[in-house]
Amino acid sequence: MPESVRFSTLNPHFVQLYLHIPFCHRICPYCSFYKHTPGNTDMRAFIRAIGDEAEFYAEKFPSRKINTLYLGGGTPSMLSRTLLGELHAKLSERFDLSELKEFTFEANPATFDLKKAQFFAELGISRISLGIQSFDNSVLKTLGREHSREDAQQTVPILREAGISEVNIDLMFSIPGQSLDSWRDTLESAIALQPDHISAYNLTYEEDTEFIKKYTTGEYVDDPDENAKFFHLAHQLLTEAGFDHYETSNYAKTGAKSTHNKSYWQGDEYLGLGPSAVSTIHDTRWKNVPDTATYIRQISSVGHAQTEIENLTAEDFRIERIALMLRTTEGLPVSVFTEPEIKRVHIIVSEGLAIITDGNFILTPKGSLLVDSIVEHIL
Ligand code: SF4
Repeated sequence: MPESVRFSTLNPHFVQLYLHIPFCHRICPYCSFYKHTPGNTDMRAFIRAIGDEAEFYAEKFPSRKINTLYLGGGTPSMLSRTLLGELHAKLSERFDLSELKEFTFEANPATFDLKKAQFFAELGISRISLGIQSFDNSVLKTLGREHSREDAQQTVPILREAGISEVNIDLMFSIPGQSLDSWRDTLESAIALQPDHISAYNLTYEEDTEFIKKYTTGEYVDDPDENAKFFHLAHQLLTEAGFDHYETSNYAKTGAKSTHNKSYWQGDEYLGLGPSAVSTIHDTRWKNVPDTATYIRQISSVGHAQTEIENLTAEDFRIERIALMLRTTEGLPVSVFTEPEIKRVHIIVSEGLAIITDGNFILTPKGSLLVDSIVEHIL
């Protein structure tokens, strides 16, 4: 029998907290997250609903302290300082944040200035994740982003001046019309800003997006060989610049790996608040209703907004951990695989796509690029 594990030792006193803020000024044509423009949403009612939902779970899991806090979306940075202050106050009242190890906040360039960044720091935000994607204005136009290269270049110095200790830059490659030279310039521009962490994602064509329509008609193409060239250029430039490649799409300077994401990959428990947020606590996973108006109504009537609830088996956790941990440079113990899987693991190693070291199965950079197919092949 293979080992059935969540790789970290589950700590019944801690939970990771995620908050989904679904508002964006405008909708990017490639994005599949639950999001919308604020329209006539009653923002105060939304913040109140988050506070009430926090109260519901604080009562349900009274002994839990928050280990990491992550505000994502959507665009959390478009909330006004007043609303952010109210939101933070509600979370602090409901949860024990005294041992918080990391407080990440997603921000888009063009949604904050120095004053607002100083307010982020006052709230205790330790890590800002910037959705920059590209430093090429024509690529940004294709992505439907509202900021320019110039906006993006101002953001990191502003955050540093405000006292934010860790900054991540999100970048994207294999965008229609993007050349390797443009990608090189984007990587070099990002490195020049001296962030602590860079995420470099391969664009994927997701359901219900404008991009997938163009992909389906053949206007946009997804070419694995081209993707590999972009991936290898990122790997080369970022590792040469002193970033540690610790997950397929993530690179960090020393001490700047994302604690929140690492906990999630390892199988720690997490609580998600807000429309569409997902939670996994004990052996149960649930998703909140992905509709802001329904979310607000449901919280006010029953205190939670759970809509899809599933009980996870040990085998579900094992498969999920394999899929997620194989994306990391830590890999995972060979002992988690079944006999037939181990045979396939050895074939992957013989093809130079992975190594086994100290009993751990770890993908090489070449294998890292094929992680999804490798997981599918092994399982
Ligand atoms: S990519 Fe970010 S900014 Fe664009 S629509 Fe999605 S959540 Fe909003």
